Amino acid sequence: MTLVPTIDEIGCAAHGDCVEVAPEVFALNGQVAEVIGAGTDEIILAAAESCPSVAIIVTDSATGEQVYP
Ligand code: SF4
Repeated sequence: MTLVPTIDEIGCAAHGDCVEVAPEVFALNGQVAEVIGAGTDEIILAAAESCPSVAIIVTDSATGEQVYP
């Protein structure tokens, strides 16, 4: 895995879509999602793309580059 997700806690509206797509990576903690584990690059990107608030920022840990959004 090279892609790492971080949650924009201000942007997160706790829809839970990310948790549905990748329950092994994201969980809801009150009114904000948090990263609880690792997942494949594909799963992390799919979860980020599912977020209606575009609150999941995906970074390539190998290059430090932001790949989504
Ligand atoms: S889908 Fe986006 S807004 Fe919804 S809980 Fe996940 S990060 Fe937050």
